[in-house]
Amino acid sequence: MTAPVKHYRIPCPSDHIVMVPARLLDEELICPQCNSRFAADYTASAEYSDEQTERAAYQWLVIAIGTVAVLITAGIIALASQLLQ
Ligand SMILES: [Zn+2]
Repeated sequence: MTAPVKHYRIPCPSDHIVMVPARLLDEELICPQCNSRFAADYTASAEYSDEQTERAAYQWLVIAIGTVAVLITAGIIALASQLLQ
C-alpha cells in the first residue's frame, strides 16, 4: 500500500485552482484549464494560507491565556497586599 500523495491547491494567474502534487512544488506548471504557465509556489497554495490562519488563531489563544494569567496574578498580588495591611 502506498501513502496517498499530498496535493496542494495553487491558483494559476487566472485564478483556476490547480491540484499540484507535493513533488511538483517549485516547478513551472501549465494550467490545464487556460494553459498559462505559472510557478507552483507553496506560499500561494490554499494549504499555506490555511496553515497561516491556524497559526494566527493559535497565537491569539496564547496571547489571551497569557493576558488572563497576568490578570489573575495581579489580582492575587492585590488581594495579598490587602490581607497584609
Ligand atoms: Zn488557469
